[in-house]
Order: sequence, then structure tokens, then C-alpha cells
Amino acid sequence: MSSPPQERVFHGVPTAPGVAIGEVFLYRHDVPQFREFRIPPEGRERELARFRQALQETKRQLTDLRDRLAVQAGETAARIFDAQLLILEDVEMLGRIESGINKSGVNAEVLVSRVTEEYRDKLAKLEGSFFHQRAQDVVDIGLRIVKNLLGLSDASIGPIDRPHILVADDLLPSDVIHLMRENVVAVATDLGGAASHTAILTKSLEVPAVVGLKEVSRLVKTGDQIIVNGNSGKVIIHPSPETIPEYEAKREKYQLYVTSLEDIEKLPAETLDGVRITLNANIELPNEAKSAIAKGSDGIGLFRSEYLLLARRRLPNEQEQYEDYRRVIELSAPRPVTIRTFDVGGDKMFPELPTPAESNPVLGWRAIRVCLDHPQLFRTQLRAILRAAVHGSAKIMFPLISGLDELHELLEHFNAVKDDLRGERIRFDDKIKIGIMVELPSAVLQAGRMAKEVDFFSIGTNDLTQFTLAVDRGNERVRDRYKPLHPSVVQLIAKTVLAGHKAGIKVALCGELAASPVATMLLVGLGLDELSVSPVALPEIKKLIRSMTFADAKAFANKAQKIQSAREMEAFCSKSMKKRFANLPIWF
Ligand code: PEP
Ligand code: MG
Repeated sequence: MSSPPQERVFHGVPTAPGVAIGEVFLYRHDVPQFREFRIPPEGRERELARFRQALQETKRQLTDLRDRLAVQAGETAARIFDAQLLILEDVEMLGRIESGINKSGVNAEVLVSRVTEEYRDKLAKLEGSFFHQRAQDVVDIGLRIVKNLLGLSDASIGPIDRPHILVADDLLPSDVIHLMRENVVAVATDLGGAASHTAILTKSLEVPAVVGLKEVSRLVKTGDQIIVNGNSGKVIIHPSPETIPEYEAKREKYQLYVTSLEDIEKLPAETLDGVRITLNANIELPNEAKSAIAKGSDGIGLFRSEYLLLARRRLPNEQEQYEDYRRVIELSAPRPVTIRTFDVGGDKMFPELPTPAESNPVLGWRAIRVCLDHPQLFRTQLRAILRAAVHGSAKIMFPLISGLDELHELLEHFNAVKDDLRGERIRFDDKIKIGIMVELPSAVLQAGRMAKEVDFFSIGTNDLTQFTLAVDRGNERVRDRYKPLHPSVVQLIAKTVLAGHKAGIKVALCGELAASPVATMLLVGLGLDELSVSPVALPEIKKLIRSMTFADAKAFANKAQKIQSAREMEAFCSKSMKKRFANLPIWF
């Protein structure tokens, strides 16, 4: 008898709070669905031939991929496929599949996945990343053979039929959107950094989530026990009988804390000495506005409209967009909704917009650049927003503005759209406020000048950190170098606030830093007028704001601005916050 699997603890990046204990649902982007059936003895030769043909096809595909990768990325990268091709020569493994077909008469799809999963499990038990990588290779090979048996080029998962903890190597923004309605009680992924779009989206599922776990998805299978602690970033697979009650207690403690925050929902985000901060919510889809408002949000500080494209997997026309914007505006009214124009590109692709392969997509064709290059797409969206805005209160915000030239170019489109609507005698909000996201260092340097031409700024610290430090926000290999509290980033935030206030406009901050309790006092002290956070973070951030004085926060920010080292800045913020607000579960 084999011994039960050993408990293992992983540390990742916590992205949404809470504790969950449950069964794994292992999600792969391309898991094909099939059923088990019996092959009568006279049909088994044919089944074997079908299997061998699928094997040949798999070899052909891998060789082809290998050769293409060698040309594009060099021989070293192409070796991934050499390792996989070697697995296809594994006499013992192939022999077991063939003899299974011969003797038990089970269809090839079942045997391929059964045998490859057994191999995966054996390899995963061995120490060292070499074996863990081979374990993943075996699974990939199995999937590829099964797909070829089924004649599939692409496939998706079926519905998740009961509460599960979703474990995946990675989740694309479009995956998360399609998983939103499923029975997911927590999420754990191998890839992703603190401000990756995947991390942001896991928050909108409103379940505990940890990303950047490196290899967890390779070491579990559907049905295994797992614990996800979205407060500390710990994930425990195959927890021992002693560990489970410990985490049940943590889960209860957190639940009690969440319940204790319910009273705060109706109270304003105001400091003890009477300074009112606007506390808004970031949302990805219109319906989220409802729960954000219920959680006491002052409005929607960032509606990432590009998720309308990703959710539909196609470009909605003007009327469809108008209805979506109207919905979010009406759900939030009389509170204002800041609609950001499509921030597509980077990792937010959608099929209808043909995107060239780029070696640096994050620095490439994305956000406002795509809109300015596609005036039709841009103007259609602006028309829809301007029309919908008459049903409540809306603002328009433009992403990734690098400086004055882009601002002028987009304003030309904006004014032309307004002229068109006037000419067509279509009702729209002529007084709508417009703002820009300040998320590039170049925008900070021109903030004083740009503040004269817009109604507000919103600082996007996710991108601002990425571009200031040249650290990919979604890459877990550099996740420890991604530091929104780096003194240079803090200085850029401070500069933007000063530039905005000098011109008499409001300055918001809508990056993930706004939802980080260690940063709240600093951000309030730096003078931000608005913070916009994921709905799950609203009560906690409000509680913090209500527990400090503005005078203290200002003194705190002044001290922080003298710090020159990122490590010291992080320690200063987290130590002081932990001392002042010892009871927050984020610390345990
Ligand atoms: C940001 O960059 O901080 C931001 C809020 O925008 P996004 O995360 O959508 O890039
Ligand atoms: Mg951004």
C-alpha cells in the first residue's frame, strides 16, 4: 500500500483575503472532455491503430513546434520539446497503454490519461525541480495525445459542479471571467505577481486567492485536500489531520472579523480629525457595481471597460456598449462611475483585434495607443459612454498616457465625438469630467502641464511601479523586486499629488497599492483625495482611514519620504501599521 501524500507548505503572493479548506479542482486551459467506453475484442486492433496514429501526430506536432521555437528563440528554448519527444519514446509507458487497450478493452483516451497521471504522480514525489518539470511534461504529452485521439485542436473545461478550490498553472483574464459564475471557493496559481491582471481578477471572484506559487498545480490532482490562506499567502497541500483544525480556527477568526466590519459599510471614510477621503471601488464587469455599493463604496473609481471585450470575446457595437455603461451607471447612481477607455493589449488580448506578435507586448501596442490607431473603435466607445452618462454620473479616464501629445490627440477625438452627437441631436452628458491615468514616469514629469487640461488624475501604481523599476508586474520570477513602496515610486506619487493640487484638480490612486493596508497611512498622508480598491478591500481600508488622524498621517508621510531604501520603506510602513492596528487579520 502506498503511504498517504506528505503535507507540503508553499508561500506565494496573497491577492485576496480569507482562508479556505477544501478539494482541488485542477484547471488546465486545454483539458479535453471524454468518456470511458469498452472496446469489444474484435475492435481492439483498430483501437491500437488509432492510438498509434495519435502518437505519430503528436510526434509530428512536437517536432514542428520544436523547429519553430528553435528558429524564434534558439536551441536552448527548443529543448523543452526534446524532453517531451523523449517521453514519447518511453517503451515502458507506451507498452502499458497498449497492453491496457489489449487486455482490458478500455478506450485509449482513458488509458493515456490514467498512465500519464500515474507517471506524473511518481515524478512529482521525487525531490528537485528537474523531476517536477518532467512531471509537467508527462501531463502535457498525455493531453496532447488525448486531443489528437479526439481530433481536437482546442477544448475547454466543463462546469465545476460543486465547491472547489481552483488550482491552475495560470489563469488568463478571459479564464477568470468565465470561471466567475462557477463554484470556486478559493484560487491558487503557479504564476502571477501581486499586480498581475490575474491577481486583480482573482480579487473580483471575492474568494481567498494566492498567486505565484511556482509549482503547486503540478503536485496536486482534482480531489486532493488543500488549504489556501489569502491573508498570509500560505498554501498547504495534503494537510495533515493536525493542520486542518488550526486553519479552521483561522478561517473562523477571519469570518468574525469580516462580520465585525459590516457595521462600517454605511459610515464615511473619514479620519478622526474630520478629513473625508473618497473611497471608491475598482470593478471589471458592470454587475460588480452592485456588491461594491453594498459594501459602502462612494462610487466606482475604475471600471476596466476592456473586460466587456474579453467577456464577450468580440467587439460590442455602440448600442451594446451603451447598455453596459448605462447599467453600471444606473447601478451606482447617484454615485459617480469612472469609466476607463479600453486598456487592451499586454496580457489583455481579444481575438477580434489582430495583434502582431511583439517581443515586448507590455511596452508595445496597448491601451490608448490601440485606441488612437483605431479611431473608429475609440470614437464608438466615447459615443457610448457620453450617451450613457445622462442616466447618472460618469467620468471618462484614459489609460497609459505618456505625455502632452497623446493627451492632445485623444482630446481631438473626444471633442469631435461631442460635435457629432450635437450635430445628430443625440442626448449626451456635455459636462462629463475627463481624467488621465498617471502610470508612466513620463506622465508624472508632465503632470503640472497636463493638469491644466483635465479634470482629475488617477495614479495607476501597478504600471507606475512596473515602468519605474523596469520590473514586469506579472512575472513571479521578479516578484520580490516589484516594490510599489520603492522610494522612487513614492516620490512619483507625491509629485503627482502636488502637481494636481497646484492646478486645483483631484488626485486619486487606483492601483493595488490603494488596497494594501500597510500603505493606507502613507497614501492618506501624501494627500490623495481618493483611493479606489477592489470591493473586498473596502471595509478594511475604510476601517483604517477611520482609525487615524490626518495630522498623524501627514507626519508619517513626511517621515517616510526621507527614507531612501525600498526595504526600509516597507519595514517602516508595515511595522508602524502593525503596531498601530494590531488587530487586523492581514497580519496573521
Ligand atoms: C494600474 O496600472 O495601476 C491600474 C490601475 O491599471 P491596470 O491595473 O488595469 O493596468
Ligand atoms: Mg495600468
